[in-house]
Amino acid sequence: MAQSVVAIVGRPNVGKSTIFNRIVGERMAIVEDTPGVTRDRLFGEGEWLGRRFHVIDTGGIEIGDEPLLVQMREQAHLAITEADVILFVVDGREGLTGADEEVAQMLYRSKKPIVLGVNKIDNPDRIQNLYEFYSLGLGEPIGISGAHGIGVGDMLDACVSHFPDEEEEEYDENTILFSLIGRPNVGKSSLTNAILGKDRVIVSNIPGTTRDAIDTPFHQDGQDYVIIDTAGMRKRGKVYEKTEKYSVLRAQRAIERSDVVLVVLDGEEGIIEQDKKIAGYAHQAGRAIVIVVNKWDAVEKDEKTMDAFRRNIREQFRFLSYAPIVFVSAKTKQKMHQLLPMINQVAENHSFRVQTSMLNDVLMDAIALTPPPSDKGRRLKIYYGTQVAVKPPNFVFFVNDAELLHFSYERYLENKIRETFGFVGTPIKINARNKR
Ligand code: GDP
Ligand code: GDP
Repeated sequence: MAQSVVAIVGRPNVGKSTIFNRIVGERMAIVEDTPGVTRDRLFGEGEWLGRRFHVIDTGGIEIGDEPLLVQMREQAHLAITEADVILFVVDGREGLTGADEEVAQMLYRSKKPIVLGVNKIDNPDRIQNLYEFYSLGLGEPIGISGAHGIGVGDMLDACVSHFPDEEEEEYDENTILFSLIGRPNVGKSSLTNAILGKDRVIVSNIPGTTRDAIDTPFHQDGQDYVIIDTAGMRKRGKVYEKTEKYSVLRAQRAIERSDVVLVVLDGEEGIIEQDKKIAGYAHQAGRAIVIVVNKWDAVEKDEKTMDAFRRNIREQFRFLSYAPIVFVSAKTKQKMHQLLPMINQVAENHSFRVQTSMLNDVLMDAIALTPPPSDKGRRLKIYYGTQVAVKPPNFVFFVNDAELLHFSYERYLENKIRETFGFVGTPIKINARNKR
């Protein structure tokens, strides 16, 4: 299930970035520890009442040298298209301004849930400043002080109350949701068009919310699929949609909702650092992954070229050793017929459940073949294992002391499980738990 998005909109200096930092502040440290995910001033993650969500500070997005009102309109537009909840911040010390009214009207017409935060209400004397903001017609103004942390909890309560239900996913569970991610120009939209082709039955788009606008459901050989659009593949042009930050946010949201992620590389240009960063998100999220090398038509090649490229991928994307690699051309349609069967296969592996008895046969054989090494005279004992979840497959091993399961031995057991059950294209998770 995708995380909801809260977008902060408001005039300069009302306190948007102060509030943004309050919301993401506590999570920063955790986020920074995740490889491939870097701290960001404009896009962050927050957590409130057990719900995690994305936060966008629209004020931090550079929209060029446009006049204030044009910039405000662009920000409001971004918030309206991307957010589940808009947090409209005004300045309670300065009072209501014409620009506030203008933006309020745009937001109001969007019919998106809006939370009105009146900032700089630093002490009880200023509470009376709230009243004039009722005239914006956006409901009850919530008095806050971003600088002092006052009222921020009430404001977040209001935001979370507008989030869609967590259970809600509009497709049936046999439907395979997938997305194509990759840096600009690798050929994501060309591949999407090639996949959709003329002869696919495109199930009509469900009108309504923004989310539907980025989904294309289709049907092929008895299987339902949904392509989730990333990074403005369909509608390009807005300045903010050209920023890398924006495409990263879009890609992250698409990945969260996908069963399968196609990591698209440019065969002509080769691999660059940005490709690894993008692939890192998909891996982190535990999605099934296929590596797609596009533009293979444009590569000058002999019989060794493909193997060399494949080795280079394995070298540079060590964390994706489980992902199959396909070489295609969206332009000539070469090898495009491989894609959907590959997606089916990795989706199946992603949701595969291993019988406990078979798992334990494999584990016991593996342990007999290579017993766990001892650590300062103590040896790991594995009593039994069981698969506790799918998407991705997650295994729990009950052991004498979880601390003794080291990375290299865990990797050994993972490889044994993969040798037996396949699991091509899906990450698998292993946790050790102490059995008392
Ligand atoms: P932005 O331009 O909307 O992102 O606003 P900033 O977060 O940069 O804040 C603008 C100014 O308002 C800074 O000088 C902040 O220190 C100040 N400010 C932010 N929140 C508060 C608040 O709750 N009370 C007061 N008194 N000042 C604040
Ligand atoms: P996106 O930004 O990842 O969506 O990339 P596009 O689909 O817009 O493609 C970027 C450019 O690469 C366009 O000029 C395409 O015509 C070109 N392109 C896409 N796929 C192929 C391919 O398979 N072979 C060749 N030679 N060019 C391609």
